Amino acid sequence: TQADLETAEDLARRAALAVDNGRLYREAQQAVRVREEFLQVASHELKTPLTPLSLKLQMLARSAESLPRERFPRLSGDLDMMRQQVQRLSSLMDELLDISRINSGRFSLTLEVVDLCALVRDSAARFEPEVHRLGGGRLVVDVPEPLVGVWDRQRLEQVMTNLLSNALKYGGGRPVHARVWGEGATACLEVRDEGIGIAPEALSRIFEKFERAVSERHYGGLGLGLYITRQIVEALGGTICVKSEPQQGSTFTVRLPLTPPTSPS
Ligand code: ADP
Repeated sequence: TQADLETAEDLARRAALAVDNGRLYREAQQAVRVREEFLQVASHELKTPLTPLSLKLQMLARSAESLPRERFPRLSGDLDMMRQQVQRLSSLMDELLDISRINSGRFSLTLEVVDLCALVRDSAARFEPEVHRLGGGRLVVDVPEPLVGVWDRQRLEQVMTNLLSNALKYGGGRPVHARVWGEGATACLEVRDEGIGIAPEALSRIFEKFERAVSERHYGGLGLGLYITRQIVEALGGTICVKSEPQQGSTFTVRLPLTPPTSPS
């Protein structure tokens, strides 16, 4: 009958659509795989030459010390600038490598006993020589003694580096405060600046990949630091949040359980 014919046509149409959807799905999956592979290979290959380059620059800088300054007045400054640029490229490549690890589930933690107070003090001390170059103000560190937990030291240093470099970069040259305190079985870490702040509509997006609240090229960056920071904090069973007001400054607060939920107690 006519009704049977229409039902058969409808079924055939739906079957064709299902086949099409399946093909599209497989193609999309393949495209994602190719993109991930590209990211992994490209970030690795682009990072590799930077290590010998950085070493050679250090050797050149040492040799340059014995040269007469009056004959080569700009050499030491130029070498320093090259070292900083190589360092910057290396950090960007590290961020891309981390993204590739996170995307492919290869992001792992190495847990050990860490004193968060010492870690924050050391991270801040490492930043001291860079404060001026980053356009930042005084670093004020307020940490009690000691606050020990089971965390990934290197990854926590990365969290501090990201939060401190942002606070100095966007801090308008005013003081940056880093504070650590304990709340029961939770360690709290706060980095506060009095800089440009973040617009309310951008606040919920800044922890996303490639999200930047400011578009000016003046502030370099890929918009990956806070995304990676959040992944690290969450992998340790913690949380990160931000309070900010434009032109008043920003406060980032990290809360970490003293023992991550996955580690044996
Ligand atoms: P980027 O490399 O661009 O700094 P992040 O992921 O670290 O990337 O930060 C994302 C965006 O969040 C930044 O581009 C900036 O717009 C905003 N941001 C982060 N930290 C601060 C801060 N302390 N003050 C103002 N804006 C900030």
